[in-house]
Amino acid sequence: MSSELLPPSPEHLHSLLDLSHELGREDRRFAILGEGNTSVRINEHEFMVKASGSSLSNLIRSGVALCKTQPIFNLFMTPDASDDEIESVLLSARRSENERKPSTEALFHAYLLSLPDVHFVGHTHPEAVNSLLCSPHAADFANKRLFPDQIVCCGATSPLVPYVHPGVPLALAIKQEVEAHIERFGEAPRLVLLRNHGLIALGKTPNAVIAATMMAEKAARVFLGAVSAGGPTFMDAEQVSRIAGWNAEHYRQKVLGL
Ligand SMILES: [Zn+2]
Repeated sequence: MSSELLPPSPEHLHSLLDLSHELGREDRRFAILGEGNTSVRINEHEFMVKASGSSLSNLIRSGVALCKTQPIFNLFMTPDASDDEIESVLLSARRSENERKPSTEALFHAYLLSLPDVHFVGHTHPEAVNSLLCSPHAADFANKRLFPDQIVCCGATSPLVPYVHPGVPLALAIKQEVEAHIERFGEAPRLVLLRNHGLIALGKTPNAVIAATMMAEKAARVFLGAVSAGGPTFMDAEQVSRIAGWNAEHYRQKVLGL
């Protein structure tokens, strides 16, 4: 049996469930009901993702789908695939028929988990972040920074994806913005922002995903507070790049498992 066909380790599942429970905590207001989804890379060919209809806060194994990546990548060749076609690809991507159907948002999880150093992805709809993404301030929130810890956890800038229809168009729009970011900065973003929708945090560890999500939501609350106080006043480009390139901050990122 090739290593690619081995079952996922218990660590993969536990990490995914723990990450989901952290992001789904009601008091954090990142996601309610069936909102949001999480995933973990198993290997080059497979990943686990929250199934359609399950909820992050109390996710268990039966609410997770173990999927093959290739059928989803093939779907990216047909941007105008119908809902029925997407549904049948999602069903055929499951490793076995015992797995539940993955969420439609599994399409962008499959892409993001193929990036170097991305092992976990968490997508949520946090309230304060969404307040800004549903406002004229969305581009400033994505491109500018307010305080150093925002840069440490969320990166110096975040791709902002225009609102497009869920499914293949959204996955392709995310791919386009993330590729432009990688071209410009030489690495995957920590955070991707979706206009009128929510955020996606990506990282090597579950902690990196939780930290980026929590700090993005804090930064959004600070942004909204600064607007009401006559601001915001952003850090300038030199200040941002100094923190982004600062060795001590890199050390902190390493210690925090970011
Ligand atoms: Zn969503």
